[in-house]
Amino acid sequence: MKRKIMLSPASFVPGPQGPRPLVQSVDYCTRCNACVQSCPSYLLRQEEAFSPRGRNQIVRLLLERKIKISDNPSLLKDTICACLLCARCTAACAGALPVPDHMLALRRAMHLQLLPKPLMLLLRLGNTCPEIFERLVRTGYFFRRFGRRPIRCLGGLLATGGLAWLKHADDILPQKPSTLKTLFKKQHIALHPKEPDIVYLPSFEASYLMAQTALKMWQLLQPKKVYVLWGQSSGLLEYLYGDKTLAVKQFKRLLLKWEKLGTRKKLPLITDSIELYGFLKHSPVLFATLPGWQKRAQALADHMQFVSHLRFTKTVNAKRCALDASTVLYPAGEAAVRAQKIFKTHFGKNFVECEYSHYAIAAAGLAFVPQTRAEEMVLENVKDVARRQIQEVYCLSGLAALELNASLRRHYPQAQAKHMVFMQDEP
Ligand code: SF4
Ligand code: SF4
Repeated sequence: MKRKIMLSPASFVPGPQGPRPLVQSVDYCTRCNACVQSCPSYLLRQEEAFSPRGRNQIVRLLLERKIKISDNPSLLKDTICACLLCARCTAACAGALPVPDHMLALRRAMHLQLLPKPLMLLLRLGNTCPEIFERLVRTGYFFRRFGRRPIRCLGGLLATGGLAWLKHADDILPQKPSTLKTLFKKQHIALHPKEPDIVYLPSFEASYLMAQTALKMWQLLQPKKVYVLWGQSSGLLEYLYGDKTLAVKQFKRLLLKWEKLGTRKKLPLITDSIELYGFLKHSPVLFATLPGWQKRAQALADHMQFVSHLRFTKTVNAKRCALDASTVLYPAGEAAVRAQKIFKTHFGKNFVECEYSHYAIAAAGLAFVPQTRAEEMVLENVKDVARRQIQEVYCLSGLAALELNASLRRHYPQAQAKHMVFMQDEP
């Protein structure tokens, strides 16, 4: 059955004063041009349709029924798919227009699935059946022992879905990896202590690919009693890949769990993922028409914290370093400002502020654009790191670190990218 293509003017997107209808949000665009030069896809294509301003106008014209999706679906698809959802335009816009959310609304209306179905189902397992997913990951690691070829083949397959870095997974992932659950068990750390002081929501990568990040987070949070919400989905993945209904369902489960954990007072919730932080901060937008749920989502958003909310005391050897505040969907805003302050204090003049080339890319955005274009963009970042002779790049996202490292290893091995939690040696 052919599905109806419809862009709903009443779907809600985030706004500076809370959720507002898409039609209103798009109308706020004054076509001032302030965002255009910050958009990596525009800088690469130099076409208005590939700029945030152009994208907004496409949405507006569609809503006003002046054009139809069926008029030029291939150009429309190209324009939408080339949007990295990096939110650089939102950060540059005086009205903080959420262009990535406008693009997501359009993607949903067109039923665009950017990842192959089997890969999507596999990733979803991480959210719905974390135990099974963990076993699959461990099986993958097991096969890796038999040489580089199997993991390369798997990486090649996944890379067709846009997860470019997976092709180089063998070069990036630790040689003796373990998932968060096994690593914590080895260290005799209880995931669920009684009467916790804080809840830690690990990112997908910290749960399955880079458990050391989760361990570091746990160490930084000491002496607090940390409840690790392992295997608990937030709905971010579903939101990004187009299933808003499932995203809401997953988010509600997280919300209920968090409410139950803090029986006497609401517990702070901390995460190592800037994407998760941004998404949960904006979670009230999921319930724009349900005031009860919106209030509860707002309470969770108010208790959200990011790594940059922690106190960093001892640091690793100061070298020429930079901070990569790339994110997907929502600008890192206050979290990035805090991170910058920490870096300025600890690294002094060795801190090179992160103003990457104009092609600066939200690393996780690699999953949303055709691979060749994504690699072209990330290469610009590598050139920038080399030109400034930066030795260490600290990222606010583990995925960003993974993806940047993949390119650095190949083209500029003098530098490496790490998650921000690794800027401190010991707690
Ligand atoms: S999105 Fe914002 S910055 Fe960009 S043209 Fe519109 S109003 Fe200007
Ligand atoms: S989200 Fe990023 S790629 Fe998309 S329009 Fe905005 S700046 Fe351009």
